[in-house]
Amino acid sequence: MRDSPAAYRAGRHFLQIPGPTNVPDRILRAMDRPTIDHRGPEFSRLARECLEGMKRIFKMSTGHVFIYPSSGTGAWEAAIVNTFSPGDRVLMFETGQFAVLWRNLAERFGLVVDFIGGDWRHGIDLVTLATKLAQDTAHQIRAVMCVHNETSTGVTSRIGEVRHAIDEAEHPALLMVDTISSLASIDYRHDEWGVDVTVAGSQKGLMLPPGLSFNAVSEKALAASKIAALPRSFWSWAEMLEPNQSGYFPYTPATNLFYGLRESISILADEEGLDNVFRRHARHGEATRRAVRAWDLQLLCLDPREYSNSLTAVLMPEGFDEARFRQVVLENFDLSLGAGLGKVKGKVFRIGHLGDFNDLMLCATLCGVEMGLEQFDVPFRKGGVMAALDYLSRGDRFPSNSQPTRSSSEAVAAT
Ligand SMILES: *Cc1c(COP(=O)(O)O)cnc(C)c1O
Repeated sequence: MRDSPAAYRAGRHFLQIPGPTNVPDRILRAMDRPTIDHRGPEFSRLARECLEGMKRIFKMSTGHVFIYPSSGTGAWEAAIVNTFSPGDRVLMFETGQFAVLWRNLAERFGLVVDFIGGDWRHGIDLVTLATKLAQDTAHQIRAVMCVHNETSTGVTSRIGEVRHAIDEAEHPALLMVDTISSLASIDYRHDEWGVDVTVAGSQKGLMLPPGLSFNAVSEKALAASKIAALPRSFWSWAEMLEPNQSGYFPYTPATNLFYGLRESISILADEEGLDNVFRRHARHGEATRRAVRAWDLQLLCLDPREYSNSLTAVLMPEGFDEARFRQVVLENFDLSLGAGLGKVKGKVFRIGHLGDFNDLMLCATLCGVEMGLEQFDVPFRKGGVMAALDYLSRGDRFPSNSQPTRSSSEAVAAT
């Protein structure tokens, strides 16, 4: 028995996959309650607060937010079945595995997908997008469908520029965007970018357990849904709209997750503030990339304008399997890193740095990676952690446009 691994692992597990993410204790506590009547007044108030609050997270003032009891994949399906008819043409981009999966789903519903190929190291190909739209003088393309932050590659596409291309072409196509791993981590503007359907999930930037998904829908997409012919029932926007007005749902919602969602919205939008949330993620993204470069390893993302601030995908040197590397890191340091997915399986590991995350958690994560590289005999240069520490300790801890607030310096003086 003495030689067998201990049954108890002391200390906290490090869940540094790019979703699900760490759930703050406050959110866990908020959900730790008896389940209430989802047709009673307390739930109605809670749901209306969540529906309105999510508009602030999506940055939208008109349209509607739909909340489903499902993983993000459900919201992908909802976006499709509510908006299209069989045979509709859509434009999608092979940015990585999540784009491939959404494409597959669209094809199963009879959409005709023009899937623009990609090398999994870049975001949406804006030149090809502009060409395709310009060529489509008959306006047969019904929608442009994008993954904002490609979680399999650590590449963030520039949705503002996608919007610009659609406007330049004066094309009426709907714009649909998957923000499952970017919402509440990376700047996103549903209204300003003229997005018609934004797809999101609970378990990444929103810091909730898995189980809720979202469609943020413009008036234009609501209008399109009235003439769309694909059959729908569980995902139907029309069935949801009326009961939602009074804070109810056509079927049992994930009641307790709504308590968590209200807490999450309050933390993100009111207490930390979305701009500070984005800055924090940008800082952790940059520190991680500095570590990777110092290790002499390659980032999968090739264009600095497209670096993801919610995760970093790192190429393993030839001949070193990422799955075995991650196993070493998990066994020795109780740290979970993200797997290589699809085409980059075996070749890439991913460091998640999104959600409820701070400097020291990032430092510990990078230490786990650096020690793992050493133990797995990967050819690398030591000092990635040091490079990250140098950057993190440089003192731009506070947002560049503000000094430490009076209350925090007072708090320091008081200790
Ligand atoms: C996680 C993720 C999904 C899948 O969401 P599930 O909740 O696993 O169904 C889809 N798209 C992106 C970009 C993701 O990161």
